[in-house]
Amino acid sequence: MSKGKLFVISGPSGVGKGTVKARLFEEFQKCVVYSVSATTRGPREGEVDGRDYFFIDKPEFLHRIEQDEFLEHAEFSGNYYGTPKDAVLRQLDSGKDVVLEIEVQGALQVMEKMPECVSVFIKAPSFEILEQRLRGRGTETEEVILRRLTQAKRELEFAPRYMYEIINDDVECAYLRLREIYLTHSEVAREAYRI
Ligand code: ADP
Ligand code: 5GP
Repeated sequence: MSKGKLFVISGPSGVGKGTVKARLFEEFQKCVVYSVSATTRGPREGEVDGRDYFFIDKPEFLHRIEQDEFLEHAEFSGNYYGTPKDAVLRQLDSGKDVVLEIEVQGALQVMEKMPECVSVFIKAPSFEILEQRLRGRGTETEEVILRRLTQAKRELEFAPRYMYEIINDDVECAYLRLREIYLTHSEVAREAYRI
């Protein structure tokens, strides 16, 4: 049995990472899993603990850093986010591909620790469109939106560090590109779906 492959997806908040990534899980549910991160951010409406994130408080997060429980961790827009290490390694060993959807500081840590990973940066067609999407989602306050837009400009500078770049103009086209990248690198998907 082949070992799974690690995929790292980044891109500014509101660019459509969640939307495009959901398509991948739908189509390749036999062989790809999403790594559920821990965060100190509060849950948004509809988010479920253990499915979307493990929602924990700051002292608990700091304790887990000390225990070396994260593959990577970072502070983003005033909150901490981290990838639980054991879960990821276990899934890869058991032959599943694992997708991390994380911001750039964490992604750079993963690229260094696991250089065999496949990294993808998703961009919006323009800054104005990114702003429209972030506002259109309606999940953040004005203050949070402004902070995330400022952060987006900084994050874009890191795009050249990734193996692939996808412009999410049309969801279907963006997904087809992600799918192509996924199939190029995932031995387990090609075996499982005989592609
Ligand atoms: P992220 O996970 O990167 O923060 P989301 O997937 O939540 O972003 O998308 C942000 C908003 O933009 C959502 O309301 C989503 O439906 C919308 N969206 C995503 N991709 C596109 C696209 N290609 N065209 C138009 N709207 C999009
Ligand atoms: P959100 O608050 O919108 O869910 O996520 C904010 C940012 O944190 C997004 O860019 C998301 O990809 C990133 N993120 C989510 N989980 C992790 C994680 O475990 N580690 C890191 N470094 N970033 C994460």
